[in-house]
Amino acid sequence: LNAPTDAPARKNAPALEAFWMPFTANRQFKAAPRMFVAADGMHYTTDDGRQVLDGTAGLWCCNAGHGRRGIASAVERQLATMDFAPTFQMGHPIAFEFAERLAEIAPGPRGKKLDRVFFTGSGSESVDTALKIALAYQRAVGQGTRTRLIGRERGYHGVGFGGISVGGIVSNRRAFPTLPGADHLRHTHDPAKNAFTKGQPEHGAELADDLERLVALHGAETIAACIVEPVAGSTGVLVPPKGYLERLRAICDAHGILLIFDEVISGFGRLGAPFAADFFGVTPDLVCTAKGLTNGTIPMGAVFAGRHVHDALMDGPDGIELFHGYTYSGHPVACAAGLATLDIYRDEGLLTRAAELADDWASAMHDLRGRNRVIDIRTIGLIAGIELEPRPGAPGKRAYDVFVDCFARGLLIRVTGDIVALSPPLILEHGQIDEIARVLGDAIDRVA
Ligand code: PLP
Repeated sequence: LNAPTDAPARKNAPALEAFWMPFTANRQFKAAPRMFVAADGMHYTTDDGRQVLDGTAGLWCCNAGHGRRGIASAVERQLATMDFAPTFQMGHPIAFEFAERLAEIAPGPRGKKLDRVFFTGSGSESVDTALKIALAYQRAVGQGTRTRLIGRERGYHGVGFGGISVGGIVSNRRAFPTLPGADHLRHTHDPAKNAFTKGQPEHGAELADDLERLVALHGAETIAACIVEPVAGSTGVLVPPKGYLERLRAICDAHGILLIFDEVISGFGRLGAPFAADFFGVTPDLVCTAKGLTNGTIPMGAVFAGRHVHDALMDGPDGIELFHGYTYSGHPVACAAGLATLDIYRDEGLLTRAAELADDWASAMHDLRGRNRVIDIRTIGLIAGIELEPRPGAPGKRAYDVFVDCFARGLLIRVTGDIVALSPPLILEHGQIDEIARVLGDAIDRVA
């Protein structure tokens, strides 16, 4: 049993006060810290020397697993050659090379790929960038009255002001003002009809008609774009009902609204195709990515834009076409990490590997049905959401206890509210699927 011991001294235990931790119960964590000090393959090593199986690819980002030498040496080489160079009115070859490589695998069908790439530093920046590109596009095509942005309840689009405005998670919004004019579709989660579905649920395509209702309410001429996660991850794995994304696409087309897919977690092979747009066969106008772009190694994001969007902005008078960008857009070291990541994805077939594992993954996860307090299980590609019944008066506590128990026994899971979300690296082996299911199932039996 990989249980914690009190004996070994914790390696290099640091002082904990100064680091204000993100999305963390700081006081609770600092009273009982959980620390990783190394990572390799499918495992982390804790500061007391235990191996922990990574059930979450870090934070949905290390799709090729940890400690990849190819990425490390590419980063080292690039740092020694040229550590940084600006991309404002200057260029460096590796940024162009990376964009070209990304264009080859860009979301969308052959001939209609979204193969124009805008680099950012994170998922949140990709979201705000895509929203701004959508607004700039509408203006460029003479539709400057279209300033409204539509998101969805329970959506997560990072933490920028644009992202929280279209996002739909109340805790991320309530302390902050949001953009005027943002509105929301209802979320697609319907456990009464769709509980314990493998893959796409049968019921709920008609929820896409909410966009028609918002068009009727606000006027199409006020709406610039609609953004959704094809599979909502951070809000607890909500899989789009059959026909839903197709319907959303059709409504956007009918009303001149741009469709944006936030693929920060679904991009780079998570579902078994390079992008969710490919997996579902629905092509948006813009796609936000980050995380798996560099295998989580160096922070970076990218927005993929369709040529119609890009070219509309290139049509204007000479000069800067889009007043937007980041110091680190196209950072050479991040590009080196990204190129090495794409090599690994290609050489190991990782952008489609989840398709081979998906059936086994779904079976193992759905076998947890019937365990203590499990009220729903949702799976698609190499993602699972296992929903527990909340304890009366203590929402989130049951799943948190499962998380702590799993960690103590050598498995990293992620919880959001009372939902366990799993998204292991795509190098996962069949035996590790069983291990994840066993440790999680035991934890649920023990503490749920
Ligand atoms: N969009 C989605 C769908 C995400 O899941 C995330 C992060 O989990 C983000 C945006 C934000 O990305 P970042 O944390 O890199 O800013």
